[in-house]
Amino acid sequence: MGKPTGFMEINRQVSYELPPEERTKNFNEFHIPLHPDEQQAQGARCMDCGVPFCQSGMLIGGMFSGCPLNNLIPEWNDLVYRGQWDLAVKRLIATNRYPEFTSRVCPALCEAACTCGMTTGNPVTVKENERAVVEYGYESGTIHAVPPPSRTGKRVAVVGTGPSGLSVADLLNKRGHKVTMYERSDRVGGLLMYGIPNMKLEKWVIDRRVDILKEEGIEFKTNVDVGRDIGAEELKAQYDAVVLCCGAKQPRDIGAPGRDAEGIYFAVDYLSSVTKSLLDSGFGDGRAITASGKKVLVIGGGDTGNDCVGTAIRQGCTSVTQLEMMPCPPTCRAPGNDWPEWPRVLKTDYGQQEAIDKFGCDPRLYKTTVKEFYKNENGQVCGALIAKLESQVVDGRRMMVPTGEEFAIECDLVLIAAGFTGCESYVAEAFGVDMTPRGTVADKKYATSQPGVFACGDMRRGQSLVVWALREGRDTAAVVDEYLMGYTNL
Ligand SMILES: Cc1cc2nc3c(=O)[nH]c(=O)nc-3n(C[C@H](O)[C@H](O)[C@H](O)COP(=O)(O)OP(=O)(O)OC[C@H]3O[C@@H](n4cnc5c(N)ncnc54)[C@H](O)[C@@H]3O)c2cc1C
Ligand code: SF4
Repeated sequence: MGKPTGFMEINRQVSYELPPEERTKNFNEFHIPLHPDEQQAQGARCMDCGVPFCQSGMLIGGMFSGCPLNNLIPEWNDLVYRGQWDLAVKRLIATNRYPEFTSRVCPALCEAACTCGMTTGNPVTVKENERAVVEYGYESGTIHAVPPPSRTGKRVAVVGTGPSGLSVADLLNKRGHKVTMYERSDRVGGLLMYGIPNMKLEKWVIDRRVDILKEEGIEFKTNVDVGRDIGAEELKAQYDAVVLCCGAKQPRDIGAPGRDAEGIYFAVDYLSSVTKSLLDSGFGDGRAITASGKKVLVIGGGDTGNDCVGTAIRQGCTSVTQLEMMPCPPTCRAPGNDWPEWPRVLKTDYGQQEAIDKFGCDPRLYKTTVKEFYKNENGQVCGALIAKLESQVVDGRRMMVPTGEEFAIECDLVLIAAGFTGCESYVAEAFGVDMTPRGTVADKKYATSQPGVFACGDMRRGQSLVVWALREGRDTAAVVDEYLMGYTNL
């Protein structure tokens, strides 16, 4: 610990954010990082406490607390404070191969578990320190292509180029195996590319990393749908191991009358159409699903719903309403949800902040769901009947049930962000691997029911977080390496 009294002397300071009216004019990232001197001072707030829950990544109170990658947070916080940026990069990438992604999109499980935040609510700025370190790494050239010194002669196919696929591919390539990545989409990155909006993660950040991976010897084959364009048997015959990292993209639908109306989309289809049009043509091709001039209804109060709200506002919607089935969470930790558990508290994310700024109220309507969609004579959605819900115990289980109170709202674009039910089953079926009732690939320590076929990321654990996808990729690489070589040093 560089400065024993740092946490008492220095206040938490986070990056500057452009105000909503400014940032919603475009789809750019809107956080302006601190000056390196300011970031160094933030590093001094880390107490290197005896109980570093920040890096523990353990299940506490039924939810994960601390960094799932077990990042060596107190170590690199100290190096940031001392201005030893090169060393900080080395300690950061020792556990996290892609900090440029996590430092932009991770919900920072580490900060929720930081001892410094236990009573003050002002944890160390771990996530932004991480971003400063990785960006220094790129600017200084400390992060650069390092191809493996020799090759093992083993060949591995990785299906899916989301964070789990990129993670497993990177480590297996570093080990000397020849890795080929297959991607159904036209661009690499999975939900990092076509899911998470550009204002949270600008897409050049992914391309910058992919260029390094290519230089290190990983081959990328885009626009190839494995299981359809190329068969499982063909792939298995060509490679010594296959790792399935296809995500959990099967969306949960809303089975209400009128669902077949025009103008109702799944959130990821909407978000990816917007990003694709932005990247292909700066929106010149007119191929994005647009909220411009529309009254938007978002079904789902989570992070994906929030991304839809922020995107619709940038496109110029005239109103936005977000339905959430559950009650509004408390503004501070409730009894029984103590530190270092993940805080189950109200979070007003960037999209909701922008809606409040533009329309004067929080877009979220708690304890509500759609009972029916209305459509006009052209079959276009024009409204929805909303049912109010309340919490009741039914057959010994607490659940949200209709109160009988209903009201109608107008809307001409509906975005369903109600979660995901698991992976699309055709890849699993093509490879003959077992599925769980949850819709994910059943496995034993990342190995599937088929020899030489492995699975990780959202496809294995269900819809989760980027940081978990990276952790799964890291663990899977070691399992695959051991399968190929009889031992592993990963
Ligand atoms: C809208 C949205 C916003 C999110 N925001 C955040 C956030 O801010 N922070 C966070 O931590 N997490 C966020 N998440 C969750 C996070 O993106 C995922 O948990 C993570 O991307 C999972 O990584 P993955 O590699 O397992 O799968 P994915 O990222 O889903 O990648 C799977 C890849 O496999 C490809 N693929 C599928 N089938 C085939 C096939 N048959 N052949 C070839 N390729 C195939 C897909 O095209 C895709 O590229 C968000 C999710 C969504 C939907
Ligand atoms: S990856 Fe996420 S949880 Fe881990 S240190 Fe970075 S911000 Fe924190």
